[in-house]
Amino acid sequence: MIRAILFDLDNTLLENSMDTFVPAYLGMLAEFIASHYPQPDAFIRHLLKATDAMLANAGSGRTNQEVFDATFFPAIGRTREEMEPLFAEFYATRFPLLRSLTRPIPVARPLMEWVFAHGYQVAIATNSLFPRTAIEQRLAWAGVPVEEFPYHFVASYEVMHATKPHPAYFREIADVLGRAPEECLMVGDEWQMDVLPALEAGMHAYWICGAGVEPPAGGPSPNGRGTLADFAKWIRERG
Ligand SMILES: [Mg+2]
Repeated sequence: MIRAILFDLDNTLLENSMDTFVPAYLGMLAEFIASHYPQPDAFIRHLLKATDAMLANAGSGRTNQEVFDATFFPAIGRTREEMEPLFAEFYATRFPLLRSLTRPIPVARPLMEWVFAHGYQVAIATNSLFPRTAIEQRLAWAGVPVEEFPYHFVASYEVMHATKPHPAYFREIADVLGRAPEECLMVGDEWQMDVLPALEAGMHAYWICGAGVEPPAGGPSPNGRGTLADFAKWIRERG
């Protein structure tokens, strides 16, 4: 029986092309940092290296933020304490401008209202490479803000000890929710990052994908697939 639903965020609850968003985000960050740090290119290079270090975190015991900090700050020769006010300013004043690159998915809000009304536990299971504010802002853009939806868990880099697609990521969220994997349903758009690892961890999985897209041959099958609107219908039929 499904008791908890894990929602990926980008291209599941919010239309957000990573091909557009990531370069815009990095460009904006480089421009912002240029007036505070002498080598913005090196800053971004080390940021990407620290991101790779987080992507390798398969449940080491350290949070993703601790992994990031240990790689990033020594490389740029600054401490978190020195840089924290800048990050805070960036996320408060620049990051919101990226909203124009995204589009809400109309069914996201009524779907979220329905799953809460029907007693499911709900986790936001985006890859935990970002601080919580970056996730909260994107949830607001998607029309499902934390102020209105009391999510049981949001997988930000401050709290997670693993990243997708490591099995430890999915186990950690199930543990936090107090659920066995077979009581959890992962809803996500990426086969390799969301659907396959969730199935391998023993969860159910619904694949958000376009019509006519097939899972790779020889692998497991998702419990369902389609658009987010299709998923809303699917979960309603299950009750
Ligand atoms: Mg996604």
